[in-house]
Amino acid sequence: MKKQQFDTKTVHFGNNRSQSPVSKVQPIYQTTAYTFKDLEDLESYYSGEHDFLYSRINHPNSDDLGAGVAALEGAEDGVATSSGLAAILAAVVAIVKSGEHIVACNDLYGGTRHLFAHELQSFGIEVTFVSFTEEAAIKAAIQPNTKLLYSESITNPLLRVENIEKMVATAKEHKLLTMIDNTFATPYVLQPLRSGVDMIVHSATKYIGGHSDVTAGVVVGAHEHIARVKEKVANLGCQMGPFDAWLACRGLKTLSIRMERQISNAQQLATFLQGHTSVKTVYYPTNVSEKGAGAIVTIELQPLVSIHAFFKHLSWIKIVATLAGVETSVSYPIGTSHRSLPAEVAASLGITKNVVRISVGIEDIEDIKEAFKEALDLASAE
Ligand SMILES: *Cc1c(COP(=O)(O)O)cnc(C)c1O
Repeated sequence: MKKQQFDTKTVHFGNNRSQSPVSKVQPIYQTTAYTFKDLEDLESYYSGEHDFLYSRINHPNSDDLGAGVAALEGAEDGVATSSGLAAILAAVVAIVKSGEHIVACNDLYGGTRHLFAHELQSFGIEVTFVSFTEEAAIKAAIQPNTKLLYSESITNPLLRVENIEKMVATAKEHKLLTMIDNTFATPYVLQPLRSGVDMIVHSATKYIGGHSDVTAGVVVGAHEHIARVKEKVANLGCQMGPFDAWLACRGLKTLSIRMERQISNAQQLATFLQGHTSVKTVYYPTNVSEKGAGAIVTIELQPLVSIHAFFKHLSWIKIVATLAGVETSVSYPIGTSHRSLPAEVAASLGITKNVVRISVGIEDIEDIKEAFKEALDLASAE
């Protein structure tokens, strides 16, 4: 080969090692595509001998995240996406066709509710929202074209625990598929596939990533379903970038120890808040699993306690529109996630202006309790 000129050398440098280095952790495959030796080699991608062609379709970091969550959920396969909502969209359109219908619980995560109520129409998919606490309501909503029952293992923000066994039984009776958003519980607390759920979706932006630094999603289930979800992810452009996938994988490795500490802190904080006179109600479920009930505690302040003063006096606790990081944070559902809900729907769900959702972190529990005590004491004095 002729000696390369300057401009060619600026883009074609690097040591052409005969063997790739074997790194201790998965490297970030920060590349948009993969190369082939010749046309036979390229052809062999299509016969399944190579795993990677173009990073929108899939790449090693994203595959790792899907496989990691699948392993923890006890699923055959998994696929990662650019966000939790992308996971839900890809999963739903993979199994529900135009002209078909979904029955979903009426206390869905706000973003999912919006997707179902306003965006799925463009795909020709209709959704009916009903209270999943009443089996009769679910049955009454099932139509001849119903394909899917959709719910969340622990709902937001009032932490209703879905009766998954019953939901699966209803679905089986009517030959429907089931999908559960397991974001709040995480597979550390609950693995709904073991109760017969067909597919699980996650916002990995929350506990799977765990550090509030990456937006990501995951869908897991049987090979048959996930193969179709993978096509949707590639064709709808729901794939995530390599660095984001790598960050989420790094977060996933510490899921157990983060959850163990966060759940223990949440249990202690819930008990403490129950004893505070400024708190009207503490929402913290029991009996989700032997691992606990997750690390979200929702409270409703007494009617005369100033919600503005409470938020103002939270010292080091951050006010955010997310959850699940290692730092304790609070969110204001009626001002953020449930803002677009019609007032009467919000009221019927129990989401009032005095409801605060607490995402409990890994700090020392005494510091967490002290910070909430201070905010509650000052808010009741105003
Ligand atoms: C955050 C969240 C979502 C949406 O996930 P994004 O990563 O924000 O797209 C879906 N479901 C639940 C329960 C969530 O908390």
